[in-house]
Order: sequence, then C-alpha cells, then structure tokens
Amino acid sequence: MSESDVRAEVAPVPFADQFGGGDSEEPPGKPKRHPIWRDVPDHQWNDWRWQSQNAIRSVRQLKGLIAFSPEEMEAIGSLETEYKTAIPPYYFSLINPEDHDDPIRLQSIPSPLELTNPSGYELSDPLEEDKDSPVPGLTHRYPDRALLVTTHVCSMYCRFCTRKRATMVRGGWDSVSRNDERMVEYVRDHSEIRDVIVSGGDPLTLPITKLKFFLENLAAIPHVDVIRIGTRVPVTLPQRLFDQSLIDLLASVGKVWIQTHFNHPNEISAESAKVCMSLLKAGIPVNNHTVLLKGVNDSLDTMRKLMRGLLRIKVRPYYIFHCDPVIGAGHFRTSIWKGMEIMEGLRGHMSGLGIPTYVVDSPHGGGKIPVMPNYVISASDDAVVLRNYEGMLVRYQAEDKTLQSNDQGRTRGVSSLLQGSKSALIPENAERMIRRQMNLATVSAEEASSGCSSNDNGSSENDNGSSENETVPNSLIELGIKKKVAPGRKAR
Ligand code: SF4
Repeated sequence: MSESDVRAEVAPVPFADQFGGGDSEEPPGKPKRHPIWRDVPDHQWNDWRWQSQNAIRSVRQLKGLIAFSPEEMEAIGSLETEYKTAIPPYYFSLINPEDHDDPIRLQSIPSPLELTNPSGYELSDPLEEDKDSPVPGLTHRYPDRALLVTTHVCSMYCRFCTRKRATMVRGGWDSVSRNDERMVEYVRDHSEIRDVIVSGGDPLTLPITKLKFFLENLAAIPHVDVIRIGTRVPVTLPQRLFDQSLIDLLASVGKVWIQTHFNHPNEISAESAKVCMSLLKAGIPVNNHTVLLKGVNDSLDTMRKLMRGLLRIKVRPYYIFHCDPVIGAGHFRTSIWKGMEIMEGLRGHMSGLGIPTYVVDSPHGGGKIPVMPNYVISASDDAVVLRNYEGMLVRYQAEDKTLQSNDQGRTRGVSSLLQGSKSALIPENAERMIRRQMNLATVSAEEASSGCSSNDNGSSENDNGSSENETVPNSLIELGIKKKVAPGRKAR
C-alpha cells in the first residue's frame, strides 16, 4: 500500500459525525472543498505535499477565485512584493466566497488595510523579541522559558502575524536555520530553562530530519521538562498530521506539548478535529491560543462558540492574546476593553475548562500581562467583598477574624458588607435565585400537602438566611447575616 493510499484511508469524512458536529451549527463542521478542487482525488486532497504545492501564493491566483474591487486588486498587488501569501486549498475552502468579511478570508487574504498604520504605533518587532535574543533565533525573556524560532516558513501566512518581520516579509529572516546549534547549546548551558517553545514560522513545516534534530537534542537536556511546539498546522494544513510518522516522532520525544492556534469556530473542521484527536491519542497534550482580531472574533458569541468547539474536540483553550501592534496589522487591533467584555461573558457562563487567560503582551518586552474584569470589589481588615459573574457581591470573612457587626443599619451597599450587617447583595431576578425560589416553593408545597414544616417558627428561610417572602428592595436582594442556629433550636 502506498503512502498516499494510507492517507486516503484515513480520509476525514465521517469524523464530524463522531463529534456530534456535522449537521448542527456547532463545530466541527463538515469537510469542504471549493468547486475548483471538486475533482481532485481524495488521496491527493489528503496529501499535505499536494496541499502545499497547490497553495495559493499570488494575487493572480486569488483573482480567479474571489471577487475584488479594482482598488482592492491594485492595493494587494502592490503588497505582493513585500509580503508573502500562502493559502492551502484546504484552508481556502473554508472561506465563504460570497462574504467579503469572512473570518478565514480576513486572516489569510491580503488587504489594502495592510498599507495603513492607523494608530501610528505599529512596529516591526512590537514585543522586542530581538532585543532579548542572546543568540540568533532564541528569545530568553522569562526566567525558566526560552523561545526558539526554528524556521521562517509557515503553511499559511496569517495577515496579523506578530513575527511578520521574520515570516512574511520577503527575505526577512534567513539567519534562523544557520544557527540551530547555538540555540540548542544556549538551552543546554542555562539550567534555569525548563520550558522551551519551539516556534517560527511553523516548526511543523520543517523537514522531518531538522525537526527531529531540535526535538531530540532538546529532549536530551535533563533540565528541559517541557517542549512546546507552536504550530498552526492543525488549523491551516491538518493533512500534514495525517502522516503517522510525524505523530510518532512527536510522541517519541515524550516532553512535547502542542500549542496550536484556532481563531474562529469555522476553523474547527472535521479534519482539524481528527488530527487533534490523533495527537491526544499519542499522548501529546494540545492547548490553544487565540488572537483577538477585529472583524474575525471580536464578539462574545463567536468566542463562546470557539471555546465550546475547542472543548468538543478536547483542545484546552489556554490564551486569548490581545493583538500586537505590528506593522501592517493595525486594522486587526481592538481595544483592551473589548477583550475584557469578552472575558466577562466567558467566566461563569461556561465551563472553567473553556476559559483562557486573556493577556496583553507588554511593550518593551515586558511579557504577557493577564487582564481580566475585577472580581475583588472592596476590602477591610475583617473581610473582602468579591463579585461573581452574576453581579452578586459577597462578603468573604477574613480567616483570622470573628464576625462582629456594630453597624445597626447605619450604612448600606458595599459598605454594609464590609461592616458585617449584610452577607451578600444579589441582583434581582438572578436566574439562580429564581431557580432556588422555585425549588423552595416546590418543597414547601410538598410539605404543606404532607402537613410538615421546614422549621418550627413557620417561616421559610433559605441557607443564606433570607426570607423567601420578604419584599425585594429595588434591584437587589440583600442577605442579612444571621447567627447560625443549631438544628432543632429557634433563632433569637
Ligand atoms: S502560522 Fe504563526 S508564525 Fe506563521 S504567519 Fe501564522 S501566526 Fe505567524
């Protein structure tokens, strides 16, 4: 059986159904092909070499596949001399050609906006990686981690790439492969480095011998615990990972984690789901980072769908990166407030497994800084006031203080939580409280019909001490602190 036949055998057609995607709107989606590749035999379509050889690399090719205005065509034509383009047929087929703002199109097809610098703040090396580079290609920024740029080649060139000075600019960075030994030697000589990020470009585009060189040499260094491979191959060219010999190499190293990069739920296809599962089955953890991109994924609905889609294919959402101020990518940048808004709508609303950390990569090489909505509202010596996703404000008693309230109703709101006269403020009509009240109503009705009562003073109190039939003030339910009562005794 030829290698192509083997790949044809693992054709991904039934895979969407396996994940329950398929016909539903939830990812993974069904396999797609642009009509011009309809007649390509499966064994070629599923061959990463065919996909790479037939990648769209010029404006001339694009012109025949997607509609552009004459102005757009002129602008992206002038970009061609500066920036590389590569879009494998598989990834191109995920584009809806009728939609000018299609999220896959925006990420992969050159735009006239790349000629602008909207804030005047865009830089070629916004993270100053080159300044923290003791040997060419290696960035040593954090105490225990190092980043190795092993190639400037990618299977698809993302228009927003932070490292476009190395990856997309023609002739931008050809020094990286000449200094392989020096990067590995640097890691070997620095015993504080525990986690090595093998990046690029995309390391899974390297010839297998070169990839093996990096992985085996790094894995042999005793103080290296983790080798993270940063790759978009599962997203843009999953066919590369239909090659079992590559999976076997990654698995054989033992220390490898895959850090992949899905930005939109439409990228979670049957094929990408399949290769993520192959990696997981080989014992290789797969995490994801997403870049927050204007027009692509800067909405709560899209991000929720993306994170849920990732969980469906067992990929752990790890980071949302704020888009870096890179020359030619300023049009992708959102405000940091947009990222906060999205995080507010994720935390508490979906499984914690699906909540990435939102980070801003700091100017001047300051590294990743986590940014999130504020959940600590106020504090005193005796307590901290915390907020949950519903807007509930709750007093959290200090571990070394006893509860004493001398407030006697003199203060209100957050202050009353600090003073100890209230334990929580809950928004009126909070779904959870309505559910709780309905549960209690059901229990009360059952008790009434059986002649029982929940406590001997005849009132119905929930476990926060609030009376279920008290009048709810304006927009909040206030939960007053009550003394704990031993079972069978009346509260005084
Ligand atoms: S795959 Fe990664 S390195 Fe390559 S262009 Fe995209 S973001 Fe940049």
